[in-house]
Amino acid sequence: MSRVVVLGGGESGIGSAVLAKVKGFDVFLSDMGKIADKYVDMLNQWEIPFEQGGHTEELILNADEVIKSPGIPSTAGMVRKIEEKGIGIISEIEFAGRYDSAKKVCITGSNGKTTTTSLIYHLLKQAGLNVGLGGNIGKSYAYQVATENFDIYVLELSSFQLDNVYDFKADIAVITNITPDHLDRYGYNMENYVKAKFRITRNMDKDDCFIFCSDDEITINHLNKIVVKAQQFPFTQKTEVEQGAFVKDDSIIVRYKEDECDMFIKELALGGKHNVYNSMAAALAAKAMEIDNQAIREGLATFQAVEHRLEKVLSIKDVLYINDSKATNVDAAWYALECQTRPVVWIVGGTDKGNDYSSLVPLAKEKVKAIICMGLDNQKIHDAFIDVVPKMYDVTSAQDAVKKAHDLAQAGDVVLLSPCCASFDLFKNYEDRGRQFKEAVRNL
Ligand code: ADP
Repeated sequence: MSRVVVLGGGESGIGSAVLAKVKGFDVFLSDMGKIADKYVDMLNQWEIPFEQGGHTEELILNADEVIKSPGIPSTAGMVRKIEEKGIGIISEIEFAGRYDSAKKVCITGSNGKTTTTSLIYHLLKQAGLNVGLGGNIGKSYAYQVATENFDIYVLELSSFQLDNVYDFKADIAVITNITPDHLDRYGYNMENYVKAKFRITRNMDKDDCFIFCSDDEITINHLNKIVVKAQQFPFTQKTEVEQGAFVKDDSIIVRYKEDECDMFIKELALGGKHNVYNSMAAALAAKAMEIDNQAIREGLATFQAVEHRLEKVLSIKDVLYINDSKATNVDAAWYALECQTRPVVWIVGGTDKGNDYSSLVPLAKEKVKAIICMGLDNQKIHDAFIDVVPKMYDVTSAQDAVKKAHDLAQAGDVVLLSPCCASFDLFKNYEDRGRQFKEAVRNL
């Protein structure tokens, strides 16, 4: 019996282990850290042997193949040893793809993955298709391949999930955009990060469909250097295109093969320039899945925002509170500020990932009346904005941030949590930060 070892006991690893078990492998799962109780329960229920709190070499280096979870860097000691022994390392996505004949719509990019993935899923589901949603969102792809029977999958794929794919093939691939992020995992080399994203187009052929943002220079520069066999459908807000999606006057226009679909921007459920991009990408994917124009229009108009992404929380005395806790980098916060039409009290800060705030300075100057820094070390934010937004305050909790914002905001203002930074200095993760913010708003 062939032996599969799974490294990492999170959502991805557990799904891989379950699929390996279902497919009759001798499977073993190993995690350096502690495995969450719910996953321990699942491993027991599926009778999968495992260890936690350390790796036992003898139980790992006898594998025929190793499935590495996306959170484990390729520089980890155990990964090196596996490579030295010449054992193949694949990702969950590669493994699950071997056992899945469903059509696959795959989405990657630096920002907008979850939104675009959820939009596409919504469009296909509303149209009555038997479609599953997975990858970096919700239940793992592998677990669903083991336990469900979908005709189509819409998969959000992070660059880490794409790192170890080889034969996996998307039928429709979307790259939302590429801006610097996670460079620590790519040897501080942008080229490596871009290449990881483009792995989503690997193995595609002329019947497949590649959707990308042609306003994104990094994407275009790389695309000019490589061969992508799939049919190409750009989306843009700058020019008109023969094939693809673009903006004309106050509408988006989607041209797919012989067909054209248009829609007023103001009818899109999601506001902001970035969501015009996401909506165009989703509409193109839906066209490629042969969804009719009316269903696409309805779907884009009825979609409910995903939690923590420019999520409107409450309006109190005509002050609107918005939770954009997922904006963990400069580009995401740029779009959040860009789409504000009312004076902004901006809650920003957290764990700085080497941010360069300069692109935000003009927007802050134009729109932000006060800044509330919510982090343990706010010096960089002070230095970047003090000249354009003199009203600056420091807080170390979501409650204090909301209290301060409430004091500062007047009727007609927006209080925007769009932190530009990771959350780990004060919170468990960005979800925890967003929820504490919302709770504090509701308690006002
Ligand atoms: P991801 O899954 O790639 O992190 P999300 O859809 O969760 O993307 O959005 C993350 C953050 O980026 C949110 O703050 C959101 O408002 C912002 N955002 C969403 N789409 C885009 C886009 N196309 N370009 C830039 N920022 C975006």
